[in-house]
Formats: sequence, structure tokens, C-alpha cells
Amino acid sequence: MSTFQAPKGTYDLTPPRSATFLAVREAIAAPLRDSGYGYIETPGFENVELFARGVGESTDIVTKEMYTLTTKGGDQLALRPEGTASVLRAALEANLHKAGNLPVKLWYSGSYYRYERPQAGRYRHFSQVGAEAIGTEDPVLDAELIILADQAYRSLGLRQFRILLNSLGDKECRPVYREALQTFLRDLDLDEETRRRIEINPLRVLDDKRADVQKQLTDAPKLRDYLCDACTAYHEEVRALLTAAGVAFEDDEKLVRGLDYYTRTTFEFVHDGLGSQSAVGGGGRYDGLSEMIGGPELPSVGWALGVDRTVLALEAEGIELDLPYTTSVYAVPLGEEARRVLFGVVTGLRRAGIAADFAFGGRGLKGAMKSANRSGARYTLVAGERDLAEGVVQLKDMESGEQNAVPLTEVAAELAKRLG
Ligand code: ATP
Ligand code: MG
Repeated sequence: MSTFQAPKGTYDLTPPRSATFLAVREAIAAPLRDSGYGYIETPGFENVELFARGVGESTDIVTKEMYTLTTKGGDQLALRPEGTASVLRAALEANLHKAGNLPVKLWYSGSYYRYERPQAGRYRHFSQVGAEAIGTEDPVLDAELIILADQAYRSLGLRQFRILLNSLGDKECRPVYREALQTFLRDLDLDEETRRRIEINPLRVLDDKRADVQKQLTDAPKLRDYLCDACTAYHEEVRALLTAAGVAFEDDEKLVRGLDYYTRTTFEFVHDGLGSQSAVGGGGRYDGLSEMIGGPELPSVGWALGVDRTVLALEAEGIELDLPYTTSVYAVPLGEEARRVLFGVVTGLRRAGIAADFAFGGRGLKGAMKSANRSGARYTLVAGERDLAEGVVQLKDMESGEQNAVPLTEVAAELAKRLG
């Protein structure tokens, strides 16, 4: 170990576990790519104001969890705590919404930073794959996104996850509900911080994890009873589309999620094998966000799935992804001359698109063959002085154990043929 360790709340991704992370990112991205979502990448930090406005001044993310910094030039920046505000900012900046092709469908993958109390499944640096569909209000779009996330999880073999669904109403009906809720909450026995929350963002009180708070919320007014006709119809349509697609969900009246910008459809993916950090992903509609950050009216919907927790969910279900070995051919040189010749062969194989690796460092046959085994390569190439004198290499099939001499000039073609 060196003098240094990964900072608190972070961990390194190292082989072989890192391969699972890559595969999870890929599995989440694949259905999006196949459904018209284009890749977007934004900076790891943004102007702090973007998140203050876009995520919400009253959210835990902005009040407690953001890594903020002042640059030497005096700019106030924040490491990105989430993706949606950045992606919308970038889409507006690039005028993607003006290209006459709405919705703008985007997907992203990257690192996010939140100053949280580290626990299993909760880190200060974590990774998400997300999707946003910008500029269209259409229940089919909400359904599409939920279905694609479901498809991604299923493709990984996950089964013990559930989809929680709710509607948060819109700018017509939500304020009426908000007031009714505030009136109810003000009469409860709550601490100072929670009382402040009642005034700033009362819906978030419903999200309180404490049992004594939850007990008092049993008779809280329900948002469902306040939804306007348009919101009710919209929500029923989303539910019907999910049902038609065979995607099971649970109506969860208390699901409000931590971000201020959500309207109408809200959902969360929870996994039952993860203990208290059970949310593996979440999202919803954010019809007001564009205007909140100075853009035009652009009703949008999106989600973000946590890669770290998805990997934990795989482990909880005992799922080992079937990750193919990356090396097809492993070359073992015996002696100086063989090193040069076989390295040339390996370079040629690689250029021909055949994945090949090499026993570096002039190791003996036994140690090198161990590495060849560990690499998972289907074939090894072994060459010593006598082989070179005859212009051949020994080609060994690691599965059958069969070995035969192949002329140096024909190795690449022979391997290409055998590997199909
Ligand atoms: P939680 O309620 O667990 O704090 P959240 O509502 O803050 O989650 P979102 O902002 O919706 O989470 O982020 C989407 C997903 O990103 C989460 O479902 C989770 O998988 C992942 N995620 C969020 N925060 C963390 C974290 N600190 N460490 C690891 N993964 C995280
Ligand atoms: Mg959180």
C-alpha cells in the first residue's frame, strides 16, 4: 500500500470487478441507443447557480451535498451532483431544441459527486447512466423511458426490483395541494428543520425516513385527490401504456423524490436486496426546469440509474454476468530472438483485429503458461530457438490441449480462420 488511500466515500474500480461496471453501463445504454437517444457529455463541474436553480435551493443536494469551489479566477463552481440540469443546459446552449426535431432524446454516462455520509451503496463519488427526452409532453414518452429502464435491468438478469410510480401534478393543481398539505403539516409535532421544510418544500416532508414522522403522516392529504383532470388523464395513460407493455409497477402516493423540478410522472426503481439504500434509479417529468434555468418552455422527462447500486443489486441476486474473455491469443516467447519475432506476430494480429497479449519480462515457460491460462485466451503461441530456425511457431488450442507447428507466415491467417 502507498502512503495514500482513495478519499473517504470513494473507491477504485479495479479488474476484475471493473469489467462488471463497464458491462452494466453498456447494458443500460444499449436500449437507449437502440431507441433514438444520442450520446451527450458535459463537464464534470458547472456554475453553482445552475444547480441552485435547476435542482432547487431547498433540496438536500444543494443545501448539504454539493461540492462547491471558487476558482483562482473567482468563479463559483460545483462538481456536478446530478445530470439533468447539465444536460438541459447543454441542449439549450447548443440549440438542439430548435433543430425542429422534438423531443431531443439524449443519454449520458459519468461520475457524480455528493458530500454524503458514506455507507453501503452511498458514496461521495458515484456513477450514473441517464436519459433525457426534452421538449415533448406525451405520456408515450414517459412510458418509453420507464420501459427502457426496465428492459435494461432485465437484460442484466435482475428480477428483484420494483417500479414505484406517482404523479406530482402540474402548475395548476400542485399549488392547491401544496397549501392543503402545509396546513396539515403545520399542526404536527416536528423539529425546527422540518418545520422550515414545510414552508419551502412541503412535499419533501412526505419523503421523511423517520418512523415517528411517518406515523404522523398517515392522514396527510393525498396528492391524488387534488390532481386536475388533465394530470389524472395523463397519469392514467402512462399507467395503461406500462400495463400494455407488461411492465409491472406499484402506485406509490408518497413518492415525491428529492428534486424540486419534477412534475406529473415520477418514478423510482427500488431493489429489495440492498437494505436501506434501495433506490437503484429514479426519474420523472420536469416540465418547468427549462424555464427555471432561463430557457423556453420545454416539457421533458428523464431518469438516472445508479451504476454502483446496480452492481450491488447484481451481487445481491447472485448474478454473475457472462463476460467473455477479452484476449483470444497469448504469445509466449522463449529467448531473445523469439521475443522480437513473436511480438511482431502479436502486433500483426492486433492490427488484424485479433485480441492478443504477450508474456512480457522474459519469463520462463511455466510462469508464462500460467498467465496464458489466466488470460482466458483460446490459443497460445509458443516459440523457441528451434522453432524459429524452422520458421514455425507452436500453436496450442487451450481447450483441447492440441498443439501443432504452424509456419510463421501463416499464423495470422490460421488464427483468423480458427477464431471465425
Ligand atoms: P437516495 O434517496 O438514495 O439518496 P436520490 O434520490 O438522491 O437517492 P437520485 O438523485 O434520484 O438519487 O439519483 C439516481 C440514482 O443515483 C439513485 O437511485 C442511486 O442509484 C444513485 N445515487 C444517488 N446518490 C448516490 C450516492 N451517494 N452513492 C451511490 N449512488 C447514488
Ligand atoms: Mg440522495
